[in-house]
Amino acid sequence: MDKTSRRYTTVCLECDVDLSKERIHLGYTTCLDCSDTKKYSSHTIYPHKTGGYIQPVSSEKSDELKRLDRRSVNGNKRAKGIFSDRSWDRWLKQYYNPPPKKPKYVPKPVTNIYIPYREVIRTIVEKYDKSGYDAACQLTQSLYSNDRISLINKSKIMNELASLQMMTTKQRRWMKKL
Ligand SMILES: [Zn+2]
Repeated sequence: MDKTSRRYTTVCLECDVDLSKERIHLGYTTCLDCSDTKKYSSHTIYPHKTGGYIQPVSSEKSDELKRLDRRSVNGNKRAKGIFSDRSWDRWLKQYYNPPPKKPKYVPKPVTNIYIPYREVIRTIVEKYDKSGYDAACQLTQSLYSNDRISLINKSKIMNELASLQMMTTKQRRWMKKL
């Protein structure tokens, strides 16, 4: 009898000993003594469209069969998601060892009064005339960084500087006369 073509047997294919009901049910074709399947794994056989039975196979063989048998996808597919990719472990680890909390942002108390806009713009324009656009921008930025001017005034001054930069020398000379 060709072993591969015979799936159902009530006696061991190796030694003709009667197989137990359980072994027959599980699809074994050999008795316990003759079984050469060392590491048991399972592979579901589907003889009909519904139902199926488990055939013990080696784990290597099982993986191979699972790859080939698309119908076994539901029962045998490997775990996916947080358990298999270990993000669950990472989550737990973080839960028990939370990272130190960031210090709460405390706004700086207002300790100085801003330089009046008219005064600042005069200083900045002077700087512009003496050292150019970039230097004037830097001065504006440093005044803002040191809390000497407000953000709004800083933006205004930067706009003024941009306008000045776009003017022609003639226009600037004319403006100074005002
Ligand atoms: Zn046997």
